[in-house]
Amino acid sequence: MKYFSTRGGQIADGAASAIIQGIADDKGLFVPEKIPALDISFEELSEMTYQEVAKLVIGKFFEDFTSEEISYCVDSAYDDKFETKDIVPIVPAGDALFMELYHGRTSAFKDMALSILPYLLSTAVKKQGEEKKICILTATSGDTGKAALEGFSGVEGTEIIVFYPEDGVSAVQKAQMVTQEGKNTHVFAVRGNFDDAQTGVKKIFNDKDFAKMLDDRGYRLSSANSINIGRLVPQVAYYVYAYGQLIKRGTIAPRASVNIVVPTGNFGNILAAYYASLMGIPVNKFICASNENKVLTDFINTGIYDARREFHLTNSPSMDILISSNLERLLYHLSGDASEVNRLMSELDSDKYYEVSDKVKQGMSCFYGGFSDVTDTNKTIGSMYRTKGYLLDTHTAVAYKVYEDYLKSTCDARPTLIAATASPFKFSGSVALSIGLPESDSEFDYLKMLSEESGIQIPKGLSGLETKEIRHKDVIDIEDMVKAVEACLK
Ligand SMILES: *Cc1c(COP(=O)(O)O)cnc(C)c1O
Repeated sequence: MKYFSTRGGQIADGAASAIIQGIADDKGLFVPEKIPALDISFEELSEMTYQEVAKLVIGKFFEDFTSEEISYCVDSAYDDKFETKDIVPIVPAGDALFMELYHGRTSAFKDMALSILPYLLSTAVKKQGEEKKICILTATSGDTGKAALEGFSGVEGTEIIVFYPEDGVSAVQKAQMVTQEGKNTHVFAVRGNFDDAQTGVKKIFNDKDFAKMLDDRGYRLSSANSINIGRLVPQVAYYVYAYGQLIKRGTIAPRASVNIVVPTGNFGNILAAYYASLMGIPVNKFICASNENKVLTDFINTGIYDARREFHLTNSPSMDILISSNLERLLYHLSGDASEVNRLMSELDSDKYYEVSDKVKQGMSCFYGGFSDVTDTNKTIGSMYRTKGYLLDTHTAVAYKVYEDYLKSTCDARPTLIAATASPFKFSGSVALSIGLPESDSEFDYLKMLSEESGIQIPKGLSGLETKEIRHKDVIDIEDMVKAVEACLK
């Protein structure tokens, strides 16, 4: 299977080279030439383990990998690093079914893809006979950074550099990143927001002279952001798996359709749900939930993408994003026209604004967009805990609130999966206060309070964070990101 750039300027001859490259030469994102069909029965699917589904799904997209290579990657990634044996538990609470994607090492759904990406990448490097060291550059709104650091720490032949917005991540997220161990890990706070950091990283990728200089030093850049197809495809697996599990428990009949709600930032996770439906999972609506940075809500409702707006720092920081990179892939699939995508993306670059064609608007009718502000998000956490005893993190609460609005306005009561994207402990301050626990000076007290109140153990990766040695202290300006990379790769 070939991989095309969404902007029409490059074709990669297989997944391995698309994964190593991360982003296409013409600044586009790699997409598979076609979305493969699942071609197994839903009855068979319902009996498969997480690992079996992951092998099936990833194997179909990454055809140039042998089945031994795929098995090695999947089995190495989804093992006892996860705190639950079934990897992705599905928990009914309130009106929905929560697909808990946060039982990996860093307590956010990013672990689902970033546990496997290092194996996919190192396998790809071997297959391609690539001799350069791979340098992973990553901008993070909080969760990707830590998950990428954990995934790549100590991986032979790689360096990993993470940029996070100085004031744009939670105390726990920051503590997780600045205490990261591993000689090949580098972490920088940048003075700016996530979009600034992401734009800075994309600029470095597109700087040909810089690439040449790195090449001379024996390095090649790649990305752990969801712009990398090696990150997106493993995420398709959990939607396929969850659908099978709903059949297995008798929640749905085979072939019945479900709704999927995703708290969305960069549009990667919800795009993975869309890919799962193109593979054959029956989905009625993709419900795209945003916080106050509701550029996607407006886009879905109007077909106009308008990033000319105030940026809000919220208590769901992993969704504080105005430029959702993966939307580019959806535009490509819906328009079927790389030149249209090219035009829209250059309008976005220059005007921070574009309007899609009627064809794309029609294609988007399977998406529903809604948002929740901080007040409603906190109320949702409180009422869900009081009435159902289920703890939501701030991101998942945004999703649940938007789903409740959807239910009210449509009365569409079919079974609905919600992507639960982070452990409530990761945002323990907001969660503790929302369920009525007393205020404290230290974010870390909230972890203990939350654990005592709920009877749930603090996840392994989050306990003891406050006493770990801080190893990464640099704070830099956006303009100095290039220099920072250069210094790491001496
Ligand atoms: C990254 C993240 C999101 C947003 O996911 P996208 O794929 O960027 O849309 C939502 N919630 C949490 C907790 C995250 O870490």
